[in-house]
Amino acid sequence: MGEFGIMFGSPILLNTNMRRYLILTFMAVMVALGMSAEKYNEMTYTKRSTTFTLVAEKAQAVQLNIYAEGTGGKAIKTVAMQKGAKGTWKAVVKGDLKGRFYTFNVKQGGKMLGETPGLFAKAVGVNGKRGAVIDMAATNPEGWDNDKALGYAPQDIIVYESHNRDFSVSRKDARYPGKFMALTEPWAIEHLKSLGVTAIHLLPSFDYASVDEEHLERAQFNWGYDPLNYNVPEGSYATDPFKPEVRVNEFKQMVKALHDAGIAVILDVVYNHTMDIDHSNFQLTNPGAFYRKNAEGKYNDGSGCGNETASEHPLMRQYMIESFNYWAKEYHLDGFRVDLMGIHDIETMNLIRQSLPKNVIIYGEGWSAGTCAYPAEKLAMKANTYQMPGIAAFCDDMRDAIRGPFSDDRESAFLAGKAGHQESIKAGIVGCIEHPQVDYSKVNYSKKPWAAEPTQMMAYVSCHDDMCLVDRLKTSMPGIKTDELIRLDLLAQTAVFTSQGVPFMLSGEEMLRDKKGVHNSYNSPDSINQLPWDNMKKYPQVFAYYQGLIALRKAHPAFRLGNAELVRKHVEFLPVEEGLVAFRLKDNAGGDAWKDIVVVLNANKYAAFVDVPEDTYTSVVAGGKVNLEGLRTTTTSRLEVPAQSALIVHN
Ligand code: CA
Repeated sequence: MGEFGIMFGSPILLNTNMRRYLILTFMAVMVALGMSAEKYNEMTYTKRSTTFTLVAEKAQAVQLNIYAEGTGGKAIKTVAMQKGAKGTWKAVVKGDLKGRFYTFNVKQGGKMLGETPGLFAKAVGVNGKRGAVIDMAATNPEGWDNDKALGYAPQDIIVYESHNRDFSVSRKDARYPGKFMALTEPWAIEHLKSLGVTAIHLLPSFDYASVDEEHLERAQFNWGYDPLNYNVPEGSYATDPFKPEVRVNEFKQMVKALHDAGIAVILDVVYNHTMDIDHSNFQLTNPGAFYRKNAEGKYNDGSGCGNETASEHPLMRQYMIESFNYWAKEYHLDGFRVDLMGIHDIETMNLIRQSLPKNVIIYGEGWSAGTCAYPAEKLAMKANTYQMPGIAAFCDDMRDAIRGPFSDDRESAFLAGKAGHQESIKAGIVGCIEHPQVDYSKVNYSKKPWAAEPTQMMAYVSCHDDMCLVDRLKTSMPGIKTDELIRLDLLAQTAVFTSQGVPFMLSGEEMLRDKKGVHNSYNSPDSINQLPWDNMKKYPQVFAYYQGLIALRKAHPAFRLGNAELVRKHVEFLPVEEGLVAFRLKDNAGGDAWKDIVVVLNANKYAAFVDVPEDTYTSVVAGGKVNLEGLRTTTTSRLEVPAQSALIVHN
């Protein structure tokens, strides 16, 4: 309160009642704006003064340094911050600080811990070493006030997982190859619109450590799973990483261009670990508070990246809630993909869910990369997804049943016609909810349903992790010819796009990308990671099929019922031999114009026959082709499904 008192108390002299009235009014406005709970608002700029705040609970002193540059040089001003309530330190610096940079330095245990831009910098200098004083309102592009999250229902989301550099770096006509701005370009927007996806999921696009932003002329590549500043866009994707406002503005331009095209924007967020522990902004402000320790008192490593954050700690929990909300509000994001979500606790994930607007989509990896220093039953693991309404988890059951296990790239599964994978694929078709015809004792990893609603399951066969689909097929089926590879690729994605879960695809699959067999391409050169845009001309049938499946899903609510009861009522599996999965979406499911839809996935190397009630059926997917108007109409009680392909018919 001290500060408001000073601001309001001078230069005009106010009596106590007026001051109290103004303070209460101000607080009411803060509450109305949803700002009351903010703990980590570290920098508030006005032309007259800038207010700095830092949570440093056990600090003996905190020094604020002001710099003219984002890197190098000496501090032009140093201020001793004042200790306030609840471990919060404050300083008000008079004058117009716009364009200046700052760091905090916490003294604890008798020593200075080292300079940090703070926990929650919203803008930084190059390489994220110093916070930047900018006027956030001035970063808004034209028309931003009218932009907002698209608010799609989860069953209407079709996710395209993309990396900012992969997507555009090899595109010859790109004006901004490898940058956020590439996604504002007509060719990019046209590609995504033509494919039909309704959401783009961007691999880490917050400020990460592993690409040197000062030397972008050097060949560098990283996925970005090494967080530095959680609340600032990454500098290497900006046209100028030295100017703090540029990346903020360009990220917003990207979001707006995508929103204008009807494409939601989902950010991959990585709160489960930091780049390193000793020099992280968490450790430089509140040593120990943000990380889990094991029974021996050592920092635990459930992330496989050297450390593991502690979402159950009040400081970390509050941090995550504020950070998610900051991105949703400031950047109008439509959703979040939570890296190693199984490291976070269920309660925190539910609090995050409740704090965000209803249709902001949240999904994550329901696993960790090592054993966590926290009880497994309290973690946001896949098996516990049903305890987190409105949060989805990736379905590795379906993924691995289709392509083969994550543990061995050389092993194949359903796509190779192998037996024993039907139940796992059926589980994936219903969204891993309880269903009378799915025997979970035969599902490969989960022995019971783990989702309460079908939209709590992400359906996919490939993502940035592990081999992409082409490489996986080549590795698990040695000697496979291109024709067969394409047939199986299309068959695999038919399972994904007809699932009652939320369909998800890796960018470039629609142009038959490969990564030259590289299993983990997190820092591989562009030659491995870039999209093969030339393939658009080489394999037009692949793009056309993906496009057709997506259009089919969008045109027919039967494929996206979005509700467990409806799925149990309308999705009926048909008895078939090994190497096949067949189901009916019956009785105008979800109000569909089509009475019954039959989907058959045939991975066998020979044509299969499936018995259906005798009627006149029109095929819309057959032999690697899609046509919503109908490919062929026949009256029959027996459907013939060509080898290694999907058939979809309706009556
Ligand atoms: Ca960076």
